[in-house]
Amino acid sequence: MLEKEVCYEATLDLDFLDEIYSLPGGKEIKRCIQCGTCSGSCPQACQMDHAPRKIFSLIRAGFRDEVLRSNTVWLCSSCYSCAVRCPKEIKITDVMYALKRLAIKEGKAKRGKKATILSKNFVGLVNKYGRNHETELMTRYILMAEPFNALSFIPQGMKLLVNGRLPVLPHKIKNLDQLRKIMTKVEELGEI
Ligand code: SF4
Ligand code: SF4
Repeated sequence: MLEKEVCYEATLDLDFLDEIYSLPGGKEIKRCIQCGTCSGSCPQACQMDHAPRKIFSLIRAGFRDEVLRSNTVWLCSSCYSCAVRCPKEIKITDVMYALKRLAIKEGKAKRGKKATILSKNFVGLVNKYGRNHETELMTRYILMAEPFNALSFIPQGMKLLVNGRLPVLPHKIKNLDQLRKIMTKVEELGEI
């Protein structure tokens, strides 16, 4: 699969690699041999600014902004195809999550505000109920991120409703306190 050619006007940040190495799964990027198996396996690669192989190449060259501002991490659907096929057993999907968190933290998320709103509301609902509540998440997202496009979500919402994917009431899990303790710890570690 051909990757898009992009002209860079970027500032090289040679500390970026060290910073990425300190993220969960980040150190493994050192083992990448640029074989391209991940990009060839990725169902989303053709929509990405940079397919996974290229993201790793850009990281190693210190292109912080190019990596964190790209749409790549936001298009990753966590299918794990890349990770199971990588000959160096790099946890590529985990790295994508780590980059996503870093992009939000630095305010560089491609869909900036919208991606952050979706992510924060999802985490908030998991903290509240122990799991996602799709109806509340969709409502919150539309009101906060797409208020002027609200009507365009109706057809999609109707399909989800008909297929039982938009429950009216949330379901709380058992032992929610334990999950909240774990989430607080994860937050303290800077992983959310
Ligand atoms: S499949 Fe693994 S080794 Fe090959 S380019 Fe992707 S990350 Fe690097
Ligand atoms: S996990 Fe993400 S990056 Fe890896 S193949 Fe799936 S969509 Fe692509």
